[in-house]
Amino acid sequence: MKKILLIQTGGTIAMNAKGAGVELDPDRWSKVLYEEIPELNEIAAITTFPLFFEDSSDLNASHWIKLANCIEENYKNYDGFVILHGTDTMAYSASALSFGLKNLEKPVIFTGSQLPMSTIRSDARRNLVNAIELATMDFKEVGICFNDALYRGNRATKMSIGDFDAFNSPNFSPLADIGIQIQTRVLEHFRQGEFTNEATYSDEVFVLTAHPNLNPALLEGLNLDRIRAVILRAFGSGNFCVKGKSSLLPFLNRCKDAGVVVAIVSQADFDSVDLTQYSAGRAALKHGAISGNDMTLEAALTKLMFLLAHYDSKTDIEELFQQSLVGEL
Ligand code: ASP
Repeated sequence: MKKILLIQTGGTIAMNAKGAGVELDPDRWSKVLYEEIPELNEIAAITTFPLFFEDSSDLNASHWIKLANCIEENYKNYDGFVILHGTDTMAYSASALSFGLKNLEKPVIFTGSQLPMSTIRSDARRNLVNAIELATMDFKEVGICFNDALYRGNRATKMSIGDFDAFNSPNFSPLADIGIQIQTRVLEHFRQGEFTNEATYSDEVFVLTAHPNLNPALLEGLNLDRIRAVILRAFGSGNFCVKGKSSLLPFLNRCKDAGVVVAIVSQADFDSVDLTQYSAGRAALKHGAISGNDMTLEAALTKLMFLLAHYDSKTDIEELFQQSLVGEL
């Protein structure tokens, strides 16, 4: 029987319905698992590990590093890892770990739920059972298991607040569809050697959302000495205002002069940024910006955080950002 380490980090799945809201309830969590889902032990030999209990909105790179360290310390003793995690920032954590856990040979599957395990219509049980089963299979990467699908972690994004079908992977088909059978896709692997834990992340990335009437004067106060990369969430294929007082081009110039990487992703979830298509994109290229192509914001942000922590040269960072490191592009 496969051995799975089930790591608890918090989120709704670990919460208890109380009045109008939900509260974290670490004590209840481990009891619930075995009292309410004893048959989990028929799928795998499960060891539970309460790493931390947080709403996922409170997580940051230090938590990603704790997670990566926990996986590294237990790597040899388990066949797969399941991480119970809040849905709000699950795609950020999954993306971050996909870059930090290099040359993975075992499945690392994130899951969570929209309703606490303790509520009668909860999706927790199904997601957890599916995730454990997937963690016994032959995936060699970080995934998100939610509502009968397994998504590549660095391709997934939270799409719905209220539906059980909370996640999607807009530009990449699921790694597995879970029905009566589990249908998996055969995929290329990214390994180029032994597994290593390289999870460190810089916090010198700033995300800027373009919107109509954005006043560039508000950006004048941004201290570019403290920022090494800006992600511009542009419209459509990579557009933003380039005319008159609202033009963002002077800001892009400032970034260029300060040696700040500017990466452009789209506010549209599906398809890819193409900076050659419209004049704004072409101007961005001239001002030194690079394309995030079809990366999610979560993947682009955590990839830059990872690259900035590992490389000093702007050219290296820009080059690597535009390459697919672990299937994120
Ligand atoms: N706020 C919760 C969290 O992300 C939401 C959830 O788990 O669904 O931790």
